[in-house]
Amino acid sequence: MNTLWTDDARGACRMLPAHEPAGARGGVRVRHAHAHAPASRAVAADERRVDLHAHTVVSDGTLTPAQLVQLAARKGLAALALTDHDHLGGIDEARREGERLGVEVLAGVELSVAHRGEDVHVLGYLVDPREERLAARLAQLRVERAARGRRIVERLQALGVDIRLEDLPPAQSVGRPHVARALVDKRIVSSVQEAFERWLGDGRPAFVPKAKMDAAEALALVHGAGGVAVVAHPGLLSERRYAIVRELAALGLDGVEVEHSRHTSEERRRLRELARELGLVETGGSDFHGENKPDVDLGYGHGGNVRVTYDVVTALRERAAARR
Ligand SMILES: [Zn+2]
Ligand SMILES: [Zn+2]
Repeated sequence: MNTLWTDDARGACRMLPAHEPAGARGGVRVRHAHAHAPASRAVAADERRVDLHAHTVVSDGTLTPAQLVQLAARKGLAALALTDHDHLGGIDEARREGERLGVEVLAGVELSVAHRGEDVHVLGYLVDPREERLAARLAQLRVERAARGRRIVERLQALGVDIRLEDLPPAQSVGRPHVARALVDKRIVSSVQEAFERWLGDGRPAFVPKAKMDAAEALALVHGAGGVAVVAHPGLLSERRYAIVRELAALGLDGVEVEHSRHTSEERRRLRELARELGLVETGGSDFHGENKPDVDLGYGHGGNVRVTYDVVTALRERAAARR
């Protein structure tokens, strides 16, 4: 539900129901801004739409950083966070385009973390792309990713699949979706999904595990680069998802991705409750990948099920400032 915050006579905050825009599904989460207006004047939330989770060709999306920002401008987004896997390489190009088109571009990165046997994704927001320790670790991860891409192709060849490394689409951060696209382009499978189901998914014949860092290292890298760490799409984790959020919070997590294209409304409700209990920022994004996930729309998610507003950007900034 949309909310407005106001102060009562004692200076305590209470929530006022506000108008819900037509067609909006999945509520707007409004962080409580601590800069209060004088009593009796309601402080309107900054409800400009943003998207804080999007991929480009730098990792496993299909739009260039400039094209992604152009799409964000067409969708009327006030801000956009680039969150390519293990890579900050799209930020400069996106920022140049963002300045031209009036879209604020936030630096972000999505890290794969091995946590108690699960693959947990951690989003680092507001990091300094030039901070050396983070940049060096990301470069190392990419070398490992490229080696993994080679091993997957070798495994497919050993299984009799006609594919070579040169068939993969160009990318700075190689992943399974690139191999999947090559399999589709060569008509070996009919969809990216089929490529994962038949060959590339966890436990499938051409699966090769990815080198990962642990959660403590990921949080330290993000914080060391001046950023804040948010657990991505916990709804996609195992039934331990809520326990995992608690465990990461104990390690210094800053936020939880509540709004996500693949989250059910029940998952959003529970994650929102948990974030409030643990004092974490509630964030969200579509997890846009262009043609690699054609049912997910930038800024709107799957069938309009994601809505994130600029208040979340402000809350992340406040959290980052408090850490420095
Ligand atoms: Zn992810
Ligand atoms: Zn993602």
